[in-house]
Amino acid sequence: MSAHPNELAALPVTVVKGVGGKLAQTLAKLGIHTLQDLLFHLPHRYVDRTRITPIGKLRLNMAAVVQGCVVSANIQFGRRRSLACTIEDDTGSLMMRFYHFSAAQKDKLEPGTLVRCYGEPRMGTTGLEFYHPEYDIVDDPSAKPVEEALTPVYGLTEGITQPRIRKLAEQALLELKHHNPAEYLPPEVGQMFGVDSLADALRYLHAPPPDAPVEQLIAGLHPYQQRLAFEELLAHYLARQEARARAQAEASPVLRVAEQQRQAFLAQLPFTPTFAQTRVLGDINRDLQEGKPMLRMVQGDVGSGKTLVAALAALDVISAGYQVALVAPTEILAEQHFIAFSNWLEPLGFNVAWLVGKLTASKRRDTVASIAAGEVDVVVGTHALFQDDVLFASLGLAIVDEQHRFGVNQRLTLRQKSIDGTIPHQLVMTATPIPRTLAMTAYAELDYSVIDELPPGRTPVNTVLISQKRRPQVIERILAACKENKQVYWVCTLVEDSETLAAANAEETAELLKNALKDINIGLVHGRLKAAEKEAVMKAFKAGELQLLVATTVIEVGVDVPNASLMIIENPERLGLAQLHQLRGRVGRGSIASHCVMLYGDKLSMQAKERLGVMRETNDGFEIAEKDLALRGPGELLGTRQTGEMEYRLADLQRDAGMLDDIHEIGDSLCAHHPETVEKILNRWFGARREYMQA
Ligand code: ADP
Ligand code: MG
Repeated sequence: MSAHPNELAALPVTVVKGVGGKLAQTLAKLGIHTLQDLLFHLPHRYVDRTRITPIGKLRLNMAAVVQGCVVSANIQFGRRRSLACTIEDDTGSLMMRFYHFSAAQKDKLEPGTLVRCYGEPRMGTTGLEFYHPEYDIVDDPSAKPVEEALTPVYGLTEGITQPRIRKLAEQALLELKHHNPAEYLPPEVGQMFGVDSLADALRYLHAPPPDAPVEQLIAGLHPYQQRLAFEELLAHYLARQEARARAQAEASPVLRVAEQQRQAFLAQLPFTPTFAQTRVLGDINRDLQEGKPMLRMVQGDVGSGKTLVAALAALDVISAGYQVALVAPTEILAEQHFIAFSNWLEPLGFNVAWLVGKLTASKRRDTVASIAAGEVDVVVGTHALFQDDVLFASLGLAIVDEQHRFGVNQRLTLRQKSIDGTIPHQLVMTATPIPRTLAMTAYAELDYSVIDELPPGRTPVNTVLISQKRRPQVIERILAACKENKQVYWVCTLVEDSETLAAANAEETAELLKNALKDINIGLVHGRLKAAEKEAVMKAFKAGELQLLVATTVIEVGVDVPNASLMIIENPERLGLAQLHQLRGRVGRGSIASHCVMLYGDKLSMQAKERLGVMRETNDGFEIAEKDLALRGPGELLGTRQTGEMEYRLADLQRDAGMLDDIHEIGDSLCAHHPETVEKILNRWFGARREYMQA
């Protein structure tokens, strides 16, 4: 039995046969420095190359191995030069297409040559095509079997290929004879999965045996995968906890409630804060008095009044002489906040400025200068606030609205923006309700407050599902609403992930509606408009000059037009429930009864109907989020699709959600009693990347 459990982490990756200085540099880009790093660089998925699929049985986007004879190989001069090689078997033919190729490559693909290739069929001009498939020329079909076992697929970086890293993994496994990976988790974890040797797990996962259960491994549900996914999720949890501890070891200003200013602020409001708003503000006030940076996330359903809570928190900060930065994801939203903050805070003698991309160079220069000089108290802005030359005299609080639209690192740049070195408190706000266990893992460094109550007098939005075929009736309904001086949104959804197509679709719809509704003033906003054009249209709609606003999903976040009480959503089946809920939140902001009409397409499946039915049954964002999570996984909900963060090697937050309670329990206990083990786990999973992890 091998000894030296700790050596894996101490041995440089160059001990592996075939790894020299140059390759070691490439591997470093993947965070691989030690033998342990290489062994824990686990395949994030597997592909099945154990059998040959008849060409006629290929399905779109389903990766497969095929084998056939070359019919032709030609260089084509389309928009881009490509090598197009057609192969056929008894069941059909297929084109392999290469945009990078050599003359020698073409010459070898003579008609009649037998090739075996592995790829993912896409729809091309000639039917199904493989783009840049891996392929081999088969000299003797009986001599060369397809793979015996599942093929692992690894995360790559420039300068290293799948076959190369597979080879390296094989070499690294040989080292397991001399060095065992240390077990850091309590024995009950191994028992939970029936796994008692990490070495066995690593061997199995890097090189699954031929009889491995294919479906289970592809789904990530093999006990070895689950055991390691558990440790990976635990490592992420510990990392966030550590980041939190590190952030909170710093000092931030102690800020008390500015009673007098608060009275004056509340006296000018046309309403009183809800109980929930007051409670959340209380949480914030406690944080601000602790002398260490606040790290708080405020979740509140659309329309719950997060802006007011942010403004009241800002008031305490600026009353003490510090500055506040508020970042929003879009200019429309930033302007709306700018107006609200100006209206609330300027009468009390504070200066509010705004900083967005569209400012003229001279205006921007002046604003940046006055922020640095401490002449403005609150700066509302977009991403423009993150730019290097934007520095504050003394930033006491950084507020990020709709935080899932930003990356953690963007939020963190605000921490280093005080010229006098002040570490700001952080407040992040989100309307996307995230189920608790998920939030505890994804945002473990943040404390939570929830505004779980809407201001009084809101009537829930009445939602109906109607077929496209009844469009004329819907148009009648718009006319009736406009006659009563109500305003209407018509939302066009994305055909695919293309803002250009969506814009074209919205333009077309606007034309159709203009023809059908001649007496109505109709506006159009979509992502292809210049920011200034977008703003002008939104402003006109807010001012009531436009009665009907045709829009793409760009209006999704935060825009507040209380008089809008009818929303039509075309093809709602294309969107996730959480996104639909956000959209629908644009209506029902005043006291008049509001309606949301979901105009679905012809071929709505039973399943889709059921999914959309959830929207009809409830207005509760949390309930909707739970359903959305179950249906679509967490990426959508956490916004990681946008920011590309939180990548796991083999864990999947949705699939493995059942482990999270145990992970939190074991994680907390390790932090309390075995900090040295925490160190080792973090080292194993993050290694050299650790220094970049912050809160
Ligand atoms: P969200 O939480 O979606 O960001 P907003 O902050 O935009 O919501 O608030 C939605 C609307 O509710 C705004 O018009 C705001 O002025 C109003 N509002 C906020 N708090 C209250 C309250 N306590 N009573 C009545 N209206 C409120
Ligand atoms: Mg908001």
